Parts: sequence; structure tokens; C-alpha cells
Amino acid sequence: MNRDLADQQKAAEVMGGLLRLSPSPLRILGLGEASFHVKSPSTSDYHAGKDTCRYSGQQSMSSSDRESILAILQVLGDLLSVGTDRRIRYMISKGGSEALLQTLVDMARAASPDYDVLLPLFRLLAKVGLRDKKFGQKALELEALDVTLILARKNLSHSQNLLHCLWALRVFSSSVTTGAMLGINGAMELLFKVITPYTQKRTRIIRAATEVLAALLKSKSNSRRAVNRGYVASLLRLHQDWHHHDTANTYVPIRQALLLCLKHVANLRSGREAFLAAQGMEVLFSTMQNCLDDQSLEPVISVVLQILRQCYPKSPLPLVTASSAYTFPVPGSIPSESLCVLTEEDFEDDADEEVDKDSDCEEVKEQDDDLETDVNKLTSKPGLDRPEEELMQYKAMCLELSCSFEELESQSGDDLNFEETQYANHHHIPTVTSPQQHGLNKGQSSGKQGREDMVQTSLLSMVKVGRSTMQPVSKKGPGMSPYPNMQSNGVGVDSSGKEIPYIQASLKQDAWDIDVISFPMISASFSNSPQPRETAEAIDKLLQTHPKHIPFHDPCLYMAKARRTRSVADFKMMAFPDLWGHHPPPYAQSMLERKRGVQRIKIFEDVRRLIQPTDIINKVVFSLDEPWPLQDTASECLRFYSKFESGNLRKAIQVRELEYDLLVNVDVNSSQHQQWFYFKVSGMRAAVPYRFNIINCEKPNSQFNYGMQPTLYSVKEALLGRPTWIRMGYEICYYKNHYRQSTTVMGRASEKHFYTLTFVVKFPHSEDACYLAYHYPYTYTALMTHLDILEKSVNPNQVYFRQDILCQTLGGNSCPLVTITAMPESNSADHLEQFRQRPYQVITARVHPGESNASWVMKGALEFLVSSDPVARLLRENFIFKIIPMLNPDGVINGNHRCSLKGEDLNRQWLSPSAHLQPTIYHAKGLLYYLSSIGRSPRVFCDFHGHSQKKNVFLYGCSIKETLWQAESTVSTSVVLEDVGYRTLPKILDKLAPAFTMSSCSFLVEKSRASTARVVVWREMGVSRSYTMESSYCGCNQGPYQGLQFGTSELEEMGAMFCLSLLMLELKSVSCSHQLLNSAATLLNAEEGALDYHLQR
Ligand SMILES: [Zn+2]
Repeated sequence: MNRDLADQQKAAEVMGGLLRLSPSPLRILGLGEASFHVKSPSTSDYHAGKDTCRYSGQQSMSSSDRESILAILQVLGDLLSVGTDRRIRYMISKGGSEALLQTLVDMARAASPDYDVLLPLFRLLAKVGLRDKKFGQKALELEALDVTLILARKNLSHSQNLLHCLWALRVFSSSVTTGAMLGINGAMELLFKVITPYTQKRTRIIRAATEVLAALLKSKSNSRRAVNRGYVASLLRLHQDWHHHDTANTYVPIRQALLLCLKHVANLRSGREAFLAAQGMEVLFSTMQNCLDDQSLEPVISVVLQILRQCYPKSPLPLVTASSAYTFPVPGSIPSESLCVLTEEDFEDDADEEVDKDSDCEEVKEQDDDLETDVNKLTSKPGLDRPEEELMQYKAMCLELSCSFEELESQSGDDLNFEETQYANHHHIPTVTSPQQHGLNKGQSSGKQGREDMVQTSLLSMVKVGRSTMQPVSKKGPGMSPYPNMQSNGVGVDSSGKEIPYIQASLKQDAWDIDVISFPMISASFSNSPQPRETAEAIDKLLQTHPKHIPFHDPCLYMAKARRTRSVADFKMMAFPDLWGHHPPPYAQSMLERKRGVQRIKIFEDVRRLIQPTDIINKVVFSLDEPWPLQDTASECLRFYSKFESGNLRKAIQVRELEYDLLVNVDVNSSQHQQWFYFKVSGMRAAVPYRFNIINCEKPNSQFNYGMQPTLYSVKEALLGRPTWIRMGYEICYYKNHYRQSTTVMGRASEKHFYTLTFVVKFPHSEDACYLAYHYPYTYTALMTHLDILEKSVNPNQVYFRQDILCQTLGGNSCPLVTITAMPESNSADHLEQFRQRPYQVITARVHPGESNASWVMKGALEFLVSSDPVARLLRENFIFKIIPMLNPDGVINGNHRCSLKGEDLNRQWLSPSAHLQPTIYHAKGLLYYLSSIGRSPRVFCDFHGHSQKKNVFLYGCSIKETLWQAESTVSTSVVLEDVGYRTLPKILDKLAPAFTMSSCSFLVEKSRASTARVVVWREMGVSRSYTMESSYCGCNQGPYQGLQFGTSELEEMGAMFCLSLLMLELKSVSCSHQLLNSAATLLNAEEGALDYHLQR
């Protein structure tokens, strides 16, 4: 038997016994006989006592009644003081609250109230009232308010009686309506007679009174009354006085309650005005200034902070316009959101509270009411969204189905002579490289270039183990640089520990002002200009001086590709990291441990701008909206720059000497979606803590509150042989700020909030150029460079690698489509048949430009698929991969976070895309339609994304049954036929991939996702395994990578693991060929059976 139930029955037995002893007073208390039958509450013959008999009227009480009531109160008090809340709730459910309240009214209305009865009664009321959500309402209905107020007034000088009355008032005012009624009846005036400046006497009474007052002020009418009567200033003075005298922190609850009063009043605009007029900001700020670290003051500090944030005058963002700094003329209309400048008027009831997000309650709740419950919509397949004959154009993108490979015959004999080294017939698995390899320069590595591509690692050996052999960097103290050999004077040390003194000198000699190291980029139309040659020469020179080898990257090719990349703002510069390349660090980085209370220190610093503005500079040092250049290079301040691919800093304001407010550009042709950032900083001093605040973030919470750090790339480090994006920054917080914007959403004016991401960076070198980004950048130009290098890297006799152009984007860029499979063994009819009958696999990525993690996962998948890993070979021999690595090139190029150049989320356009307005989606869908029309729908469709709120990697899929179950739909799911195969792939990934977790996967079909790739490909093309794969921006909280932030290696490994899972999926399917089963068995046996058990069918 349940323990609570046993308790409850015991209580009932005791009360039943009591009932037999003295039935009449119990009736007075309204507790009828039937209440205490020991029976399950669910049986129907069980009646609440209050319905059967209720004492009423003003009849006088006999002395025996009085004794009995006392006895009952005593027993009830005893009963309810032990055991669980369930006893009290049981009593409440039986009308106990009403009985006690009625008794109070009757007792209090007597000519001379009997306090011997009233006091225990009040104590019971306070106890029961705490647990009864409707207590205030009941007290109001039974007219218990007036009698209590009268008793309190009568007892102003009688401490004990007054205290009991206050306890009752405190529970009454738990209901806002009841509180308002108490206010009308003069409760606040009464309380102000009780609450005094600091004293050591009657402090229990003062505490109770302040708590009642705080509860009353939750009512707006009471707050308004408080403002009109000047209570705000009084409360401030009272708080100040208690704070000043209570040096031992003995009366923290009184001080907290006084602050809560102010906080409630500040929910009103008039309350905030009164607070500001009474110098509330200054008063509270100064009282808190020296005790921020005091643990015993925790409750006080947190309320002060809330009040300061609430009352901080709201203001619009310091921008000339809320729309993007870049506009692009889109054919057709532009979705317009009207925006206007705000006045304080707009913030009448800004009652939002935000608590310090230190605690790890980061999981986001999904909403069930978004689930699609219309079975028709779930099961029906809509017709084609375009004329059928249009599909024929995609035949040209599937040349593999018609190619006859006539050239194969003549070449087939050459296979043995084929010089493997000509192509880096690499065995590339994204994995850790030793520091020695990493730091190679030409002098040390002559003839070894490319070696690391040949490192023999098999993907199978990394299953569920990942890079776990790597040591995570030990937990670092604040500000410690993760650069292993960093010296703050900027003198270079290469990764082997040798000093490279010439670096600094050569940088100066060559007039390589490191601040302009973003190379001039010349668009094709200026090709007559002498600059390109100079630039190329300069880069050549730099590469000679600072050689390094980054697999699948080539700065010269990057430069050439960049000239063809078209941006709205016509970027002329390239960011150094994209050009030079990124090499993953030789270690994994732990998540940042958050120091307790760091957020409140940051917020106090923000408030200090208002209160002590003496050190405030407020100088705009960079702005896309002002004529360039803004900054005088002679000044001490940092220099910023963002006019390069994927860059999006809009404005930088130097707030204090070492603090900068930054605003990122919103998406082109939009006025929202700012979260991604990427910009350059230079002119720094080494090892100095600079605070950066990105003040116009949009999402209500972020992994930056849970261990994630931004990424940083130092040009000097790169030239020293460490061209690496690393996680950097400490004292990282993400919180709501005082900026507001009014915006009209669907005709209704609403208010938009902004959030600050703040972090501190100590740069590794003085006078360096550093790049800071939300996540490891991956530009469109990087992709185009990568694809060309990949294509050149494969042995064309073995690997079929073809680049097509899916379409041109609105911005005039080509959207690439890649086809990867194995070449047919020969051009014999059998081999050609096998080749053409290979099932398709379709993978897409980066529809959301801010999700650069998706591109790194894609990079890993692509490199793996063309590699000489035996798994990759099997995959090629058995599938044709159709890959669209970047569905939104324009968004990526122009530094958008979410949208296309039309300002639309392209992953909400799959239902009816337009060929002119959403060309990449239109043609991606067209290609899938075409495959479906020729009976070649893909085995798996997967769209790679990044997730900003959750950790790990996981899949979203589609299931009718799970959706209906989750929505508790009444539709019988037994009639719905559904292949449960959609769960197989995530289950395999859960076993294989270190970063992956099944527990975050979801297979629900949401209405709001009806127009996403996943749902449309599932419904319209009938692909049951249609997925979105989400990779955290942060890292993992499970598996081998638990506690680590993702580096690019882990993301790339995820891409390779995804490919491996496709093979495993096939091995588990009934349609799997014997030949594949045999080859796989051989391969897996060779891997010492590591995977044997995965193959158990
Ligand atoms: Zn996404």
C-alpha cells in the first residue's frame, strides 16, 4: 500500500475516534461523520462532510463546546504537523478550509473574542491555507477578511495576537482578488503602521507584515494605490535603513520582503517612474555594490537585480534602422514588418522576470498542441506541385543512369599501373593529428606533404569510441589561453617549441600590416586591375614563409573561387581564416565551467553605466551604416571589420576602455534572426581582458549559458603554424537586456526583447588580427574550393564523382549538386546494370546559414565517401549518393543566420516552392520528385542542421503513430499502416556514433514543420526514412565526448559515422544483396568482430 494512503487512513482513524468522543463540536467545524469512513476517496458513497451538515448562525457557544473545539484544534494541529502534505490536502478536499474559516468568523464575531481558541485556529488556518490554492477565494466568500482585519487593528499593540492575524492575512492574500479586496479595506495602511525602520524588537511581526504587504502588492490595484500614496519612496527608505543597520544579516527575510514589495510595484509603469524618481536605481545599486559575493545575502541580491533590470529605462537598439544594413532587390514583394521607435509608453506591464540561468535546466519543452492530428494530412500524399513534364529536366542531373562508360574498356587494363600517388587516394577519416604533423612547415617536412592523409585509420575502429584517446585540455582558469605556447609579448614560438623570431620582423618588413591581412578580393569585372597579381604574389610569398598543409584546402584555389562568389554588399576582402584554412586543434576542449554569480556581476556592470557614467566612452568605432572609415587608427581602441563572406558585424561601440557593445546585422531583407556573428578584431593588447557584449541577440536562451564558448582564430597563431579555430572566451553569459523594439506581427503590435551575449577574451598576441565567430565558420567559397579539391583527389577509375549545378540562386551563385558512387567494374551489361540499379541516398545541408556545424558534418561525410576506407568503398559500390551540401549559399555568403535573400526561412518553403523565389528548394524538391517518378526514391533522405538549445547529435523523423499517440488522439492507430523502419537508422547511429544520442530523437510530425524538407519528403515522396539531423553548437553531455565541446573533428567524424550507418541500415534490410552481406562480413571480421553484434538481425 502506498505510504501516503496509509498515513491518510491513520489520520482518518484518529479523526473518526475523535468524532465518537465529541460529535457536536466537530459538526461545528463542519467535519461530518461521513468524512471519516476509512474508504478509498474514489468510492461513490463517500460524501464530503461540508455537504451533509454545516454549523451556521450566531448561536452562543457552551463551555463544553469551547473545550471540545480546543481539543479538536489541538488534535488537528498534532495530526497535521506530522506526516505528509497529503493529510492536509485530504482535509482540504473534505471542506476543512471552509470549516476552519467559518469557525474563525463565528469566533471573531463574538462580543469578546476568545484568543485561546483563536490563536490555535489561526495557526491551523495558516498551515492549511498554504496548501489550499483556493484559500484566498474561500476566505473572501466566507467573509473572513473583515473579521481578521478588525482583529488585527484591535491588537496593534498586542504582539502575539497581531502576529497570528498577520499569518492569516498572508495566506488570504495568496489570491490576487482577495489581496485586492484587502487593499480596498485598508490592509496596506494597517501594515504600514506595523512596519517600522530597523529595530530588534517585534521583528517576527515586522517580518510577517512585510510579507503580507509583498503578497498584497501582487495586485495591480494595490500597486497603483501604493504608488499614489507615496509608498515607493517609503519602501526604499525602509529597505535602506534595514540594510544599513542589519550588518550581521540577521533579518534577511524582512529585507527581501521589502524588496519584493518594490519589485511588484515596479511591474507598473507608474511604479517604475516613482522608483526612478525616488533615486531607486542609485539606492539599490549602492546598497548592493559591496555585497555581491555575500552568500548569506543571496535572496536579497537576486531581488535587487530583478528590480534593477525591470526599472532600467527601456530603449531602442542604437541602430538607425531595425532592418538589415544590406538590402537586395527581390523579384516580387518583400515581407514587410513595420517597425517604429519605442517610447517608455509601450512598456506598461513589463512583468517579465528572468532569473539567473546558472542552473542547468536547459531542456526545452516541445509543445504538444503543435502536433498534426489530422490523420488525412498525415496519411494522404498530395499531388505534384508542378507540371509533370518539368521533371524531365532533372534527367540531366542523373547522368549516371544513362552514361554508357565507353571509355572504361580501354582503361580497364591500366588499373594496375595507375599511379595511386597521383591522386591522394586517401584514407581520410576525420581524426586527431599529432602536433608534429599539425605544425609542419616546409623546411621540416619536405617530401612528406600529404602524409597525414595516408594515416591508416579505419572508421570502424572509431565506432562509439571516437577521439576518446585524446586528452581534453585540463580545466582552465579564467582567461588562460588554450594556445599551448602562447607568449604574451607576441614573439612567436612554433609548435615544436622553437622560437621563430623572424615572424614579427617579416610581417613588418613586408609591410604586412596585420590589420589589413584580409586580402583584397577583386571581382571579375575588375580583372584588368593590377591588384590581383600583386595579391597572388603576396600570398605566394606568405605561403612560402609560412607553409603549412591543411588537407583538402588550398589558399590559392580559395582566392580564385572567392572571385566568383557574389555578395549583396560586394565584399572585396576575404577573411584570413577562410583563405588560410583551419586545422583542428590536437586536443578536445572541455565545456566552460560557469563561475557562480558571474551573470549578476555582468548585469551590475551594465547597470553601473547608468549610475556611475564617469568611465563611459560610448564611441562608435565601427558601423556599416556610417561612411567608412570611422576609426582613427591612432587611438587605443580595438578595430573591427566584417565586410567579408559570412561576416555580419553591423556596429561596434566602445563603452568603456576595455568593453565593447556589438550589434550584428539582421538577415538581408529582414528585421530579425540575429544570432550568428563573425567579425575581425585588431589593434589589441595581449593578455588584457576585453569584454564584448553582443546586445541584439534574439533567442531567449542559449547554450552559451551551459558551457559553450565562441570560436576565435588568431592570424599570428596561424602564421606560427597553428591555423586553428579554437573555443575561446570566459565569463560567458546570455541574458535579457533593456533594449526593446515594437513590431507589428500579423496586425498586432507587440514588443520584441533582446538578449546580450557577453564574454571576455584575452587575445594571445598584441597587434594581432583575430576573428571571432558564433561557431566554426564555413563559407560558400570554402565549399566550392573543397569540392574541386575532392574531385581532383579521387581516382576517376574507381570513384564516380560529378559536380552539377542544381540551379542559380537569387544572388547569382551556383548551388552545387554532387553525385558520388563507384565506377562500374567494366562496361559490360551486367556491371552497367548493377551500377544503374544502385539505390539512391540523398543528403542536404546548410539551409540555415547560421548552422555552420551542419557544413562541417557535411565536409566529414563528403571526405569519407570519396576516401579509400573499405566502408566507403562498399558504400560507393552499393549506393548512388546525391548530395546538395549547401541549400542556401546566398544566406551563408551574406552572413545571414536563418534566411534567404528574400528574408524567408527556406526550410519552411518545401510545400510549394517557387522556381524564381526559392530556386534551391524548388529544384531540390524537383530532383526528389524525379527520382520518385522513375521509382528510385532514396533509401534515406537527411537534411543536416545545427541545434542551438540542445547538446549532442540527434535525428528528427516522421511517424504517424507516434504523433497520434503523443497527441493522445482518439483516432485508432491500429488502422494506420506504418513501417517502423524509421527508428532503425537512429538506433544504429546511437550504437555507432560517439556524439549521437537516441534519447533526443523525435519522430513527431508538427503542424509548424509541415513545410520542412523532412516532412515534405516523407509525405510527398513517400520516403519513410526522411530525417533532419541536428548537431549541437555546443557539445555532448553523454557518451565518450561527455563534457566536451565539439571541435570540427568531432563534427566531421559525425558525417562519416552517418555514412557508415547507411551501410549498416542496408545490411539489416531484407533487400540487402548477398554480395554486400559477404563483403561486409569479410570487412567486419577483419575488424576483429568489433561490429559483429551490430549485424545481428
Ligand atoms: Zn536548422
